[in-house]
Amino acid sequence: MQAPKPSIVYRYHDGLYVNLTNRCSTACVFCVKNLWKMDYRGNNLNLAGAEASPEEVMRLAKEEWAAAPFKEFVFCGYGEPTMRLDALLACARLIRTGKASPIPASMRVRLNTNGLANAVWGRDTVPEMKGLIDSVHVSLNTSDPAQWAALMRPQEPWAAEGFEKVKEFIRGAARVLPEVRATAVEGNGVDEEKFKALAAELGAAPRFRGRLEGGAGV
Ligand code: SF4
Repeated sequence: MQAPKPSIVYRYHDGLYVNLTNRCSTACVFCVKNLWKMDYRGNNLNLAGAEASPEEVMRLAKEEWAAAPFKEFVFCGYGEPTMRLDALLACARLIRTGKASPIPASMRVRLNTNGLANAVWGRDTVPEMKGLIDSVHVSLNTSDPAQWAALMRPQEPWAAEGFEKVKEFIRGAARVLPEVRATAVEGNGVDEEKFKALAAELGAAPRFRGRLEGGAGV
């Protein structure tokens, strides 16, 4: 059977999710994209290299809004959204400046991420998100650097300093963004108390989640 048309946007609960890219800076052991053959609950998230422009993303989002309004706009697909940081910020800016009307400029915008943006882009990316992103969920998963490397399997050249860079990202985000959560996938043998302590130290709220819940990707 032929796979359905690739989904650039898709629905999950009350949110509209955006599948910006299939590129990842990690190859997380808990990722379901291969197991589920790039399908997410009936949506084909395999873009086959055809990444959408911010204008195209927002055109599709407006179509979805016309079909049924959503409560949250979430960057989360089978790929790490910040691999396309500029496109991500451009989408959020179109919302905030009212250029995505009738989607309200006050729409809650969330980023689900592995937290490696600062490592990938070689700069502090958090200030660029201020005023555009309301909530960041960072898939930190553990307080232990070796376990982080084993669970997240960061790609070169971001492996060596990755864990520290993710912590730096969370710490910075907690200073300037309204909501920052450090998430951990259950069932990976993580020391939950140490994880909660690290999240608190970084200024983030800890959140444990099941493997398949919470949208695709991280
Ligand atoms: S969980 Fe997300 S970041 Fe990790 S490998 Fe899967 S798609 Fe990439």
